[in-house]
Amino acid sequence: MDLNKLNARVSAAREEVEGRGETFYPGPSRVHLAAFPPKERWSDWVELDSRAWPERVEKRYMLVPTTCFNCESGCGLLAYVDKETLQVRKLEGNPEHPGSRGRNCAKGPATLTQISDPDRILYPLKRVGGRGEGRWERVGWDEVLDDIAGRIRKAMDEDRKNEIMYHVGRPGEDGYTTGMLANWGIDGHNSHTNICSSGARAGYHFWMGIDRPSPDHANADLILLVSSHLEAGHYFNPHAQRIMEGKERGAKLVVVDTRMSNTSTHADHWLASYPGSEAAIFLAIANYLIQNRLYNEEFVRRWWNWQEYMEAVHGDPEPTFTRFQTELAELYSGYTFEYAEVESGIDASTLREVAELVASAGTRLATHNWRSAGSGNLGGWQVARTLFLLNCLLGAVATEGGTYPSAWNKFVPKPIHTPSRHPDQWNELLWPSEYPLALMEMSFLLPHLMKERGGYVDVYFTRVYNPVWTNPDGFSWMEMLRDEEKIGLHVAMTPTWSETAYFADYVLPMGHATERHDIMSYETHDAQWIAFRQPVLRTARERLGEVISDTREVNPGEVWEENEFWLELTWRIDPDGSRGLRGFFESKANPGEKLTLDEYYGYMFEHSVPGLPEAAEAEGLTPLEYMRRYGAFEIETNIGAVYEQHVPDDELEDIGVDEMGRVYTRAPKPDTPNVVALPVLDGDDDGRRRVGVRVDGEILKGFPTPSGRLEFWSRTLDEWGWPELALPTYIKSHIHPGSLDSDQMVLISTFRVPVQIHTRSANAKWLDEIAHTNPLWLHTHDAERIGVSTGDLVRVETEIGHFVVKAWVTEGIRSGVAACSHHMGRWKLNDTGQRQAMATVGIDQQESNWSLTQKRGVAPFASSDPDTMRIWWTDVGVHQNLTHPVHPDPISGQHCWHQAVRVRRAEPGDRYGDVAVDSERSHAVYLDWLDKTRSAVTHSPDGTRRPYWMMRPVRPERQAYDLPGPPDPVAS
Ligand code: SF4
Repeated sequence: MDLNKLNARVSAAREEVEGRGETFYPGPSRVHLAAFPPKERWSDWVELDSRAWPERVEKRYMLVPTTCFNCESGCGLLAYVDKETLQVRKLEGNPEHPGSRGRNCAKGPATLTQISDPDRILYPLKRVGGRGEGRWERVGWDEVLDDIAGRIRKAMDEDRKNEIMYHVGRPGEDGYTTGMLANWGIDGHNSHTNICSSGARAGYHFWMGIDRPSPDHANADLILLVSSHLEAGHYFNPHAQRIMEGKERGAKLVVVDTRMSNTSTHADHWLASYPGSEAAIFLAIANYLIQNRLYNEEFVRRWWNWQEYMEAVHGDPEPTFTRFQTELAELYSGYTFEYAEVESGIDASTLREVAELVASAGTRLATHNWRSAGSGNLGGWQVARTLFLLNCLLGAVATEGGTYPSAWNKFVPKPIHTPSRHPDQWNELLWPSEYPLALMEMSFLLPHLMKERGGYVDVYFTRVYNPVWTNPDGFSWMEMLRDEEKIGLHVAMTPTWSETAYFADYVLPMGHATERHDIMSYETHDAQWIAFRQPVLRTARERLGEVISDTREVNPGEVWEENEFWLELTWRIDPDGSRGLRGFFESKANPGEKLTLDEYYGYMFEHSVPGLPEAAEAEGLTPLEYMRRYGAFEIETNIGAVYEQHVPDDELEDIGVDEMGRVYTRAPKPDTPNVVALPVLDGDDDGRRRVGVRVDGEILKGFPTPSGRLEFWSRTLDEWGWPELALPTYIKSHIHPGSLDSDQMVLISTFRVPVQIHTRSANAKWLDEIAHTNPLWLHTHDAERIGVSTGDLVRVETEIGHFVVKAWVTEGIRSGVAACSHHMGRWKLNDTGQRQAMATVGIDQQESNWSLTQKRGVAPFASSDPDTMRIWWTDVGVHQNLTHPVHPDPISGQHCWHQAVRVRRAEPGDRYGDVAVDSERSHAVYLDWLDKTRSAVTHSPDGTRRPYWMMRPVRPERQAYDLPGPPDPVAS
């Protein structure tokens, strides 16, 4: 059909729908082919039953929105609840969601297969026999809650608060759990971030005091991506649709990625650079802008902390911008295109073309790095710092088509109660003094820190997290988790079986996207929105008049949700309220009574989400009813350049301005409903708080950095022992060619498969059918050198062991670099687990020598789902991460994933999926990398453990930052 006819048809459809007084949603395709049900008919939506075809049988649905839980994008879903059976029949996109606008990736609708997975965990389980033996008995929630609560209460009463630890993989929520942990007064929040995004986030944090970028792809003239954001990157589907809109507008796309991805195939320039050389490329582009005076001089003059740099580093008491410009030109003059060509392997002429595109984009330069190079390399944080340097040079910061700081494009509503306390102690197992600038907890070092420092955790929660499989060095995790002298009680809270859950004492079944409450907000574009995740069957049944007081009443088996679990657990830890814990979960309406989730969210939506009460009232709904009906709310669009906003007059009371132009006030802090975690900035000596920065005589909001400006030079890095890295610069990676032996190559292990999501998708049959294995990408030249073809077994040797995998020979990767997706290689020890995507393995340990061998892959099996008899694949990949030692970046704390490896033909006796590792050797590698650090004990400028302004998810009280003794003299 031609386009005109299609458009005519769409116009007719619009007229018809709007003529009925209903909402017409433009579909996601160019010709608006996709149709979303008008929201006015969500209570009673009629479709023909596809299974009854060719008969025309009508099915009636209630459409209940929720939020996807399968990645961090928080896209909207609409659950089609069959009004006859009250079961979810399918999940599609929610057109009312401002971030995803009705669209999803494959993983969103596949939630249906997760909730109906015949192998899912339906009841709380308790270990029988030794930890890790894999034998379980069903227990009741009451027993579980009393046992855990008793242990936690005892640890708190005995002042062992550091022995309680909550380790989260996919948070999927904003503020509920961190608020609770703060109120518990424990410094026990642990996250997965340092194996994920800390590298890039640190780079952004040092620049602007905010740790994430929010690129405005749709309005950009040039989109510059490090890695494959169109198919698998951060905020994947919301960003992907906006990247395509940008391209439709005529934006150019430049993709820096060693590996050919679907994204690179859409690029105008695909730079398949040598891994780790990205910062050299960006600095060469920066140098081009600087030497040719193509940068935005006014922006740089107003917003960079160049004055502070010139004074501190050059001892220039009255620096001028002109002198700084001369210095800037000198600083980067060595980063020529020719230099970058040597480092990256990309022609100087191509780099020049890209630099010209960057220059011509001006303030419409949208850039993004999240994982990829930022998380692959020693010094990966400088990849993001040098990438953002380009935005900072062009003034493409919080501009239309530019890149925003994330916090301004995100909204986290204030909850009904704020924590009554914060931890008064510091947890060295999470924030060791050797890593004072680590962006987040040094989570992946836990087994080594425990081994080295004799640590003990009495109650260890892993929550939607699978460190045994996801983290590097999984055998060290097994050693730690099996050892009851190190882990007293391991509680695995998980919606699906995981390799880590096998080493738990309790396995607690948690809900999927349709079975739980949460709120989420993400920086998908220049706007602020919140999305509501809700147990859709609970909402459906409540709409039909039922009274539901506990989400377990509607979930399968005894699957629960974490909100209600934590609330109940907190009450059991503090049954009489004397410890000050349960107040966080007490009703305001009925003091002394338990808070309900209706009150928790109802209060939040009523009091902390501007515009929502009015929007709800216009429809005759309460704010909670509105969110239950539509699932999302857009608070504001076009936020713009917050840093240029004037500080309101009522915040300027008895102000003081210091020599750097920072403005302090005595006005009380305004009560903001948006509690996005921002750095806590120091006040002045007179007890006033920081409120802004004076720029050209005006008092503006500026940036939440120590200087109030964009920090081209970081005093923090300088003062905490890293003066040579205080500017955006290039750090040669641990896998730089100069560091490799002649027979070594680089292994890239960080890339995602678009249809898989770490642990949680192994039970999604639709996704498993599409992607279930992870061959080793080898360039044709490398395959010839090694003497292998596609499908042949190869042995990949790392510093601590090896794995055996199949080769996939391709020209879609640089010669000298191999790649293997980390999404596959799931395993189980016996029949307990996901049978469609987990191989059955045997694990053997001879002192520190561990091995894992695959006994069998997957096969068809009989279950409640007839499709499990149709499983046609057997190979579910190889668990490569076991063979990776820890590589903590000494500054960002990020695990540097890239590996220097030897790849050779498999040896006689090698079998597919074999893994062998020496865990003693892995500890030695940990110690090698520890040597790279500069500890707070020797380098802290003020006797504290960490710069106070830097982010922490659960910030302890100020006194907890003090190092135990007087600081040693600063090392020379
Ligand atoms: S991008 Fe896909 S997996 Fe992620 S939230 Fe959206 S639909 Fe879900």
